[in-house]
Amino acid sequence: MSAPEREPTAAQRRESLKEVFLQARACIRCPELAATRKTVVFGAGNADADLMFVGEAPGASEDEQGVPFVGRAGKLLATLLAEIGLERSDVFIANTLKCRPPGNRDPLPVEIANCQDYLLRQVELIRPSVICTLGNFSTKLLRGDPTGITRLHGRAEVITLGMRAVRLYPVYHPAAALYTPRMLETLREDFARVPALLALGAPPQPMPPQPALEEPPAGVAAPGAQQPPTGAEQASAGAQTRAEQPSQAEQPLQDDQLGLF
Ligand code: URA
Repeated sequence: MSAPEREPTAAQRRESLKEVFLQARACIRCPELAATRKTVVFGAGNADADLMFVGEAPGASEDEQGVPFVGRAGKLLATLLAEIGLERSDVFIANTLKCRPPGNRDPLPVEIANCQDYLLRQVELIRPSVICTLGNFSTKLLRGDPTGITRLHGRAEVITLGMRAVRLYPVYHPAAALYTPRMLETLREDFARVPALLALGAPPQPMPPQPALEEPPAGVAAPGAQQPPTGAEQASAGAQTRAEQPSQAEQPLQDDQLGLF
């Protein structure tokens, strides 16, 4: 029987997160976004945060600075965090899309689909116990359901993303609350419940896949066992790596470039 896999340490997860950032920084899956963006806004904050926020997409200020939520909505988010005793450096802030849609148009379904692997990897590596989705786009994506934020805000539910169970907590998007005092009031009330949610800790995690009890006969691979890639697979994986990682991606990455704490 094979030895059980060791859990990666926080330092290893942080290094893997930087690798994902390098991949995202060179991403050309959405040709229009890749051609019009100034930066890829990967996300910033505590790489081992218990609380993660997922917004919609970078705006003009975020695209300039490469950091999420630095414009007016970001200032409101920082205020709401301060009101519950948290700072940006305590949490990780990401978006559904890592690139700014031109003219701040809504993200397209194909763009959301193209970008979702980056977000799921972020969740897998940061391992938050609570994910606060800000507004409709991230809520619909992570719940896999079209129910809107007006019906869902302020109610936590446990969902499984990849191999992790998390407490999902949808709230209104701060940008929407900027112009609607009643929505801001609701957003504040919803934020006030975040500390109690964090105090619950991570939800029970799904069982990892168990190794087969019996060794398969010699020469027969166990179900799910990794097969060496065929020549064609190697070629196409290599092509993808090359297409998505031009030379800029190979530069060493400093933590402050990622806004990591
Ligand atoms: N709105 C978002 O959804 N994300 C940002 O980063 C900024 C504004």
